[in-house]
Amino acid sequence: MDKNLFRLDSIEMHKKRVLRDAIHDYIQVDHLIIWKLINSKEVQRLRRIKQLGGTYQVFQSAEHSRFVHSLGVYQIIKKMLETECLESALNDYEKLTVMCAGLLHDIGHGPFSHSFEGVFHGSHEDMSVKVIVDPHSEVNQILSTVHENLAFDVASIINHTHHNNILISMVSSQLDADRMDYLLRDSYMTGTTYGHFDLSRVLRTMRICDGKLVYKESGVQAIENYILARYHMYWQVYYHPTARSYEHLLRAILLRIKDLYNENYQFKTSLRYLIPFLDNRVEVEDFYCLDESILLYIFRELTDEHDVIISDLTKRFLDRRLFKYVKITDANQIVAIQDLAFSLGYDPRYYINTDTQTQVPYLHYGKSGELNDIQILCEDGHLEPLPSQSEIVDAIIHSKKTKQDSGIFFPKEIKKEYEEF
Ligand code: CA
Repeated sequence: MDKNLFRLDSIEMHKKRVLRDAIHDYIQVDHLIIWKLINSKEVQRLRRIKQLGGTYQVFQSAEHSRFVHSLGVYQIIKKMLETECLESALNDYEKLTVMCAGLLHDIGHGPFSHSFEGVFHGSHEDMSVKVIVDPHSEVNQILSTVHENLAFDVASIINHTHHNNILISMVSSQLDADRMDYLLRDSYMTGTTYGHFDLSRVLRTMRICDGKLVYKESGVQAIENYILARYHMYWQVYYHPTARSYEHLLRAILLRIKDLYNENYQFKTSLRYLIPFLDNRVEVEDFYCLDESILLYIFRELTDEHDVIISDLTKRFLDRRLFKYVKITDANQIVAIQDLAFSLGYDPRYYINTDTQTQVPYLHYGKSGELNDIQILCEDGHLEPLPSQSEIVDAIIHSKKTKQDSGIFFPKEIKKEYEEF
């Protein structure tokens, strides 16, 4: 089938589906292919991966999954496509491609993604692409029934190689459907109000100019609000020290498993689902099998191992005896705590963890140094970068104070000794 002859209404469902949602009220599914993708095993797996990893250890109600976030991203893309400017700028094939990309963008997330990726060195973006293009995956088979190139085109939006920049920026840019959904959803689910912004207003002021998504001048305040929402969510929620502590404990467990495996330690626990990751030969099916429920089961089993470190770390994890956090004020502090841990019989490789968090709320430049500004369409028709139209964003860019937080995380028992020291 020629992509240009592709008609979206030709694949419409007789009976449209709606899914009730806390953020968007209703998620609307009009196309059978979207419905089939939602019901594919790879998308259903996302129900078993939490959107915020360990953050629910601090914000107890934030137990939402990547599944519901993926539906939300799809719904925002759908709303974008209904705006006048995009409605006419994209053809039906492009519209379908970007809706699928929104729904599938997180399909490559592993369990507790950030800690897991840190130890096993995979990128969720690469894995998403791998799942989509693999002919053995259900999503690939579903996409291929509509058009032979569809899986490849969806993947190329996710890995930023698609020829149409508008489609890429709808899914991933400074102001994209992914971030818009997670800010609103995470803010609602954590019970904080920092992430709130006026989504309808942002979408209403969206336009296309010079082949790019831009925003009308009248949308500047709504965009400022979105940028501040992001900034506050990072510091109040995503970088919360207790959430980071949980991630460190998780990372320590995975690292200990990996070290023991490499030393040929004889595990009593079956590591069947982890072995492809430990051997660094992960196929799409191995990836599909590993989710957070499996990992938590493995952790329960590991509490019975002879190895005292893995048994202790997994008990701490399951019973929420997290590492304590101290702000780092000078480098000698780390050495002093490491020495102290060592003298008390704790291996610093697993029990002493440090990190530094910085977050820039607005990126003037992209990854490869190119200008990356959100573009504002002025009344006379010319484009201006957002900072020149917003004093707030300009002040943020030129601020000399980049907020940074360095912390050291270690067991409470060591902290007690350290304070008496
Ligand atoms: Ca996402």
